[in-house]
Amino acid sequence: MRAVTWHGKRDVRVDTVPDPRIEDATDVVVRITSTGLCGSDLHLYEVLGPFLDVGDILGHEPMGIVEEVGPGVTELRAGDRVVVPFNVSCGTCFLCSQGLHSQCETTQVREQGSGAALFGYTKLYGQVPGGQAEYLRVPFGNTLPIKVPEGPSDDRFVYLSDVLPTAWQAVAYADVPAGGSLAVLGLGPVGDMATRIARHRGVENVIGIDLVPERLERARARGTTTVDLRAHGHELGDVIRGLTNGRGADSVIDAVGMEAHGSTVGKIAQQLVGLLPDALAAPVMRNAGLDRLGALYSAIDIVRRGGTISLSGVYGGTADPMDMLRLFDKQIQMRMGQANVLRWVPDILPLLTDDDPLGVDGFATHRLPLEQAPQAYATFQKKEDGMVKTLLKPGA
Ligand code: NAD
Ligand code: ZN
Ligand code: ZN
Repeated sequence: MRAVTWHGKRDVRVDTVPDPRIEDATDVVVRITSTGLCGSDLHLYEVLGPFLDVGDILGHEPMGIVEEVGPGVTELRAGDRVVVPFNVSCGTCFLCSQGLHSQCETTQVREQGSGAALFGYTKLYGQVPGGQAEYLRVPFGNTLPIKVPEGPSDDRFVYLSDVLPTAWQAVAYADVPAGGSLAVLGLGPVGDMATRIARHRGVENVIGIDLVPERLERARARGTTTVDLRAHGHELGDVIRGLTNGRGADSVIDAVGMEAHGSTVGKIAQQLVGLLPDALAAPVMRNAGLDRLGALYSAIDIVRRGGTISLSGVYGGTADPMDMLRLFDKQIQMRMGQANVLRWVPDILPLLTDDDPLGVDGFATHRLPLEQAPQAYATFQKKEDGMVKTLLKPGA
């Protein structure tokens, strides 16, 4: 089969690799019809390279049609339409039964002290081949795949694999008080969807922050107040306080992560990638105080005293140290982690209707054949061509 594989920093290719097959009794093999490209893939593309092996199959946002089921699978049959959550979770261990599927005790990568295995996240998370491929072996066939109805296009359901539950958890963990305000740093797929979910759930004052014009415009078009970091980076705290009764946002979601403009890692990445000319980027970031911790530093600055920061952006350990003094002094609550996908599906599925309150049907900006993955990764990383969310289409 054809699959997107890692070959080096900023070098992914579409290769012919062996087809996956049933290995355990409860495995299923899914023929992938749509598979997302995610900000998390960009970490592997750019900064996490030293940990990867040539040939690793990437991707963790797939859906498709069940092709084959193992002898122990009772809940699915060939022909069923399924979305595959990005966490490889058993659904039955103690932590899964607490709704903590990202910590599944059956698939935890114990030798690394990590949480549940993830599809397409290489040996960093259990070396499970990913879903940017024609076929995918999915374990726990009775509990992991999400069965979805026939009829609507893949766009309706595919984001159940990651974007929707991640954004839902971000909003849930942000715990916005009644009548309160929410600032969302980063308007990529995750941040954009978080603004939509927050507004759907009744938060009126939602402020989205980014520096890519098309992403700001997209959020604005759905009624979110936006702040352009390029114009206001040096005074972001004051701008947000001006929009929130002078105190700062009750809750802040950081949907940026370690490649933020201004984070230690991000600064290096930014120079390599050339997202902004250095001459422009350096003073903007320094004035904004972003040169220390990027978006996380902004989050700590713009949240009000006693407020909550919800972190869905992924950070890179010691490369992004936290300002514990300010967190302590401002009495901030923080919640974070990989999304517990299956926990939120019952909340989200009822919203995936023809009314489409979250706008999933038009959420993708690009739908491309799998063979075009290398160009798609490059364009997505540079945030060019208006690309926000790409669905790759194997077999197209
Ligand atoms: P993305 O790269 O498309 O979005 C990031 C956005 O942040 C971009 O629009 C970028 O312009 C903006 N940005 C950069 N620096 C900024 C700054 N200093 N302040 C404000 N905005 C800034 O990626 P995405 O797919 O939306 O994912 C966002 C983050 O969420 C990534 O770190 C990804 O790994 C993470 N993620 C986490 C989970 C989870 O389960 N917790 C799941 C999916 C993605
Ligand atoms: Zn993802
Ligand atoms: Zn489990």
